[in-house]
Amino acid sequence: MIPEINTLWHPKHTENTWQQALRQVIRDPNQLLSLLDLSHHPLAQQILQQPTFPLRIPLGYIARMQKGNFDDPLLRQVLPLRIELQQHRAFSCDPVGDKAAEKMPNLLHKYQGRMLILATSACAIHCRYCFRQYHPYIPENPLINQQIIDIIRADQTITEIILSGGDPLMLDDESLANFTAQLATIPQIKRLRLHTRMPIVLPERITINLIKSLTSTHLSLIIITHANHANEFDQKVSSALHKLFEAKITLLNQSVLLRGVNDNKEALIHLSETLFQNHIMPYYLHLLDKVQGAQHFDIPEKQAIELIDSMRKNLPGYLVPKLVREIAGLPYKQQII
Ligand code: SF4
Repeated sequence: MIPEINTLWHPKHTENTWQQALRQVIRDPNQLLSLLDLSHHPLAQQILQQPTFPLRIPLGYIARMQKGNFDDPLLRQVLPLRIELQQHRAFSCDPVGDKAAEKMPNLLHKYQGRMLILATSACAIHCRYCFRQYHPYIPENPLINQQIIDIIRADQTITEIILSGGDPLMLDDESLANFTAQLATIPQIKRLRLHTRMPIVLPERITINLIKSLTSTHLSLIIITHANHANEFDQKVSSALHKLFEAKITLLNQSVLLRGVNDNKEALIHLSETLFQNHIMPYYLHLLDKVQGAQHFDIPEKQAIELIDSMRKNLPGYLVPKLVREIAGLPYKQQII
């Protein structure tokens, strides 16, 4: 028998450690459908039972989905569907050219002045549109790899280090604190940037100790959150983001424009308003990176431009994100509008 979501996850679990919250996940599509009262929905036949990129969703995130709604925008982001098996010429396993930008395993140099470390392959949640779902990660913690620090130290042009992944906040506080301290000894490094979905999908991760681990040096800290829909925010997410705001961390958000999730003006406007209420500036709205298996999320550029136009008509300029796409080999994100 499958327990109800609220017996598995409950607000009283706020005292739990983030590692406990991380273990409270659903990995079985049938269990997910059952929790959401969707087992007998006609569209349940479309589920991909054993996807190559496995299902993984924290219970706290499932609790924000609407029961009985197959089209729930949070469910759509994580639900494996048979359509993922279709092949398409324009979709590949490395759509943004990570391999060509590799300086060494787990260290990418794509953009002038910045290097990006793939801090881990792990994530709290598996998003079906993830452009790194096929990346051949090297199973080691690059934050303790002296060679990476040496490469950064030797390049006087690098002023910013980006931690991405996977999700860098899957690493423990000690690794993050030690790495930040080491980075701070390199004179040309001014900024540390983290790309993370954790504050949104597993807000328990945002602890005082984590914040201390990241903010104990002179480096400016920027956190780029990844939220795609206003329904992803609840009280726990808001309070995690408030902690980051109080620590004076710059908060920006990247979203991906996804068919069936946020491809309408109401959803995008509501997302921007919600981000701002939570101290985050809308930064980028990405066209989908054309990763194999994610074709069903793709939105044509013309429609994306029309959506941004409608946002402009309804929001102050600072709440309208830049519409961008990443083109493999280009030394910057291409701004469409
Ligand atoms: S790297 Fe980001 S987009 Fe990809 S699965 Fe992890 S959280 Fe989702």
